[in-house]
Amino acid sequence: MLPPLNTTYSSLLLIAGAVCLLVAVVILQSRRTAAGASALTFLLLALAWWDITYAMFWAGAPGPTKYFWLDITYIGAVMVPSALFIFTLQLTNKGSWIQRPLLYFMVLEPILTLLCLFTDPSHGLFFAGKRVENSAVILDAGPVFWLNVVYSYALTFASTILIIQGFNRSSGIYRKQFGIVLAGITLTWLNSIIFITGLNPLPGADNTPFSFTIAAVAFAFAIGRYHLLDIIPVARDILIEKMTDGVLVIDSQSRIVDMNPAAQNLLNINTNLFGKPVGEAIKKWPHYQKTSSNFDQLQIEVELGGKPKKQADMQVTPIRDGSGKFLGRLIILHDITKLKDTQNELHQAANIDSLTGAISRGYFIKLAGREIQRAVRYQRNLSLILMDMDSFKKVNDTYGHASGDQALITLRKICAQGSRKMDVFARLGGEEFALLLPETSQKVAAEIAERLRMVIESTSIQHEASHFKTTISMGITEFGIQEHDTFESLFHRADKALYKAKADGRNRVVIWKPGMG
Ligand code: GH3
Ligand code: MG
Ligand code: MG
Repeated sequence: MLPPLNTTYSSLLLIAGAVCLLVAVVILQSRRTAAGASALTFLLLALAWWDITYAMFWAGAPGPTKYFWLDITYIGAVMVPSALFIFTLQLTNKGSWIQRPLLYFMVLEPILTLLCLFTDPSHGLFFAGKRVENSAVILDAGPVFWLNVVYSYALTFASTILIIQGFNRSSGIYRKQFGIVLAGITLTWLNSIIFITGLNPLPGADNTPFSFTIAAVAFAFAIGRYHLLDIIPVARDILIEKMTDGVLVIDSQSRIVDMNPAAQNLLNINTNLFGKPVGEAIKKWPHYQKTSSNFDQLQIEVELGGKPKKQADMQVTPIRDGSGKFLGRLIILHDITKLKDTQNELHQAANIDSLTGAISRGYFIKLAGREIQRAVRYQRNLSLILMDMDSFKKVNDTYGHASGDQALITLRKICAQGSRKMDVFARLGGEEFALLLPETSQKVAAEIAERLRMVIESTSIQHEASHFKTTISMGITEFGIQEHDTFESLFHRADKALYKAKADGRNRVVIWKPGMG
């Protein structure tokens, strides 16, 4: 029996084939550089082959063998899934996936399938002797046939997933582009459903070439319609992915829409957090939550956690569409950890004495100013002890300068141990030190000073072969015991008391009294 004849169906297939060829030519002439253009051309040519040969079959065109036209439709059909998959990879900027092994497999599978088909009479692996005469389709066939079906559906499925991902991740004009591509691929699935559910208007006819032709034309429209933007997604990917600054895009519901590797690294997260609320995703990062409402644009320094702690300059910019509708936010994180470290080092160098580790004179004056303000505001006591090592020239002369240094370091240690966290201990210069005691009366300060004096007096200082002891004189006063007291007058009184301690024979504590100057 001859295969079925249907000239209307055959004509439609011919038209579909002609459209494929036409679109392929248009792409070749104008859109060769667009993302996906090469694979799409190949897809269109494979479809044209499929459409036209299938049209010949339905037209009852004579051929050298009974199933000649039906058999050679496969030459086009087996290429379609591979071409579709590669087109999808190109469209979704996953061109890097197209490496040799994948490419070989994509070429080899169709060739092996075709080989099996054309040599079927000798082994029956393709049709398994189940080919029914007068049938346009082969539903019950051999293992290679089914393998190819599984392979084709798997690739179409993978392509569909990639397209859905692309659609979900894109916005604006790209979303429209992906929307059209998605509509096209959805149509091929609808066709499969119609076929499987037996709702096919022309029983026995395989409408797959039709559905794929419409899909491919939709793809061509999508990449042609938005062709001006071909370069932008590629440029965006290169720019954002390779950028050393962290980039996060958050939608209007504060869900993460996009994030580059630098952002993942800065925020110390490695899981894929697309679509998750930013607060849930980044628990260690409260700054964004705190500031995410009621601001339009923002630039602040934030601490990002991690070990060692990272610091970033965070810039938040709202994203709006052409009509001003709020779509989300763009967050750029610039790593300033190193800058902050350097700033801290500079701060230390300027404010910390390198020999003893005590605060330097300049910084002490600044901190003392703050403490005076606080004492005035809260009406608290504030005492100052000035210290000067006794006969320090002699220490240097007798034991050497390095031993003198050791004495200064020891004094700093003793004072640090004998004072509270809130107290301010500073090296004012040479062998002169100051201890500022907030919330402390001069009476209590004198007790503290006396204790320190005794510890110093009894502490043996060791440097290389030398063992020696030193003593210290201290002058004490309290803020506010004179009218219009200032830091200068406070310091002056303590200095006078210290002078009196020296004059009275050293190694003693003296509280300032009127009459000392
Ligand atoms: P006094 O205070 O008891 O009157 O006698 P003094 O010998 O300590 O006299 P003065 O305060 O005038 O001398 C301070 C000496 O401290 C002079 C200097 O050589 C020494 N000196 C200053 N800075 C340092 C330092 O960083 N290391 C050492 N080893 N000695 C220092
Ligand atoms: Mg001195
Ligand atoms: Mg001295």
